[in-house]
Amino acid sequence: MGTATLRDSYGRIADDLRISITDRCNFRCIYCMPAEGLKWLKRDDLLRFEEITRLARIFVQKYGVRTIRITGGEPLVRIKVEELVGMINELDPTLDITMTTNGVLLRDKAQALKDAGLKRINISLDTLNMQRFHEMARSDQFDRTMDGIDAAREAGLWPIKLNMVVMKGHNDDEVVDFARLARDKGYEVRFIEYMPLDGDGTWTNEQVVPSRRIQEQIEDLFPLVPVNDARPGPATRFKFADGAQGGLGFISSVSQAFCTTCNRVRLTAEGGLRTCLFSLQETPLRELLRSGASDEHIGQVIETAVWRKEEGHLINKPGFIKPAKSMSQIGG
Ligand code: SAM
Ligand code: SF4
Repeated sequence: MGTATLRDSYGRIADDLRISITDRCNFRCIYCMPAEGLKWLKRDDLLRFEEITRLARIFVQKYGVRTIRITGGEPLVRIKVEELVGMINELDPTLDITMTTNGVLLRDKAQALKDAGLKRINISLDTLNMQRFHEMARSDQFDRTMDGIDAAREAGLWPIKLNMVVMKGHNDDEVVDFARLARDKGYEVRFIEYMPLDGDGTWTNEQVVPSRRIQEQIEDLFPLVPVNDARPGPATRFKFADGAQGGLGFISSVSQAFCTTCNRVRLTAEGGLRTCLFSLQETPLRELLRSGASDEHIGQVIETAVWRKEEGHLINKPGFIKPAKSMSQIGG
């Protein structure tokens, strides 16, 4: 168990670690990556599974981190990712180990991930229309992605959260369909506001659909009741008022930032510690790992970085600077 906590200078405690394990991806979602891809990290620059596990151990055993989310890039393109899940699970089998994936490789991987100790899964899905999928993910793997969602369910990775990034003029006319899907299948759908972390650098506020607009559209058909979480997370959660299965959540990063309750810290695929998605700098840990630094020393570096966590991001405010890295290079 953790003996200390990772506290920042505003009193927030970081106990949710997001680990990106690759910057590569088999999709090119328009809100995340340019069509031509990005300059990939070299294999040697990626943290090895042993290195990731060592850092995870420090976060879990020294600082009481309870949730570890594996992400990317697309985490399932990293070979034998289930071995990493198993290594992290061995640190403490009660850990909440989760993954965010585009789902396309889940038919092959879901059972192995479950067996290795993955507890929950978030699958990104922005449209229920094949042609649109082609336009938004710039991939022709719609059927395989849908089948991947079924495979996760069959493997017992439950509940399944579906992440939908809502973009004006692209998929905002499908939000009610996604609410219906949540009810029909029992999924938890998360509507995510489009953030200025796209690889093309073409984000504008006009493309963002504020959560309250999405909620209004849905409530015209399906009245909602709020879920009062003991501890507020990034999503404002709702159940259906008529008692239907499934649920909805709104991640309003742009229209209503939730920085005051942010409990997250991120590790990039090359071992950079980031205290915010919008951090302009990160704390490199890879060379410490590779130069024989002790856990004690690495812990001190982590503590100092978390203490300096930004108060919040400044999207749509004067002084906002877009980070040099895009979402797939940070780990969403
Ligand atoms: N490839 C995996 C996937 O798509 O689920 C994991 C990595 S992806 C970067 C993590 C999450 O970030 C996904 O749910 C994706 O939809 C979301 N995302 C990517 N770019 C975004 C943006 N500009 N604004 C909001 N969410 C974004
Ligand atoms: Fe790949 Fe995920 Fe980014 Fe889409 S959102 S390009 S699936 S990393």
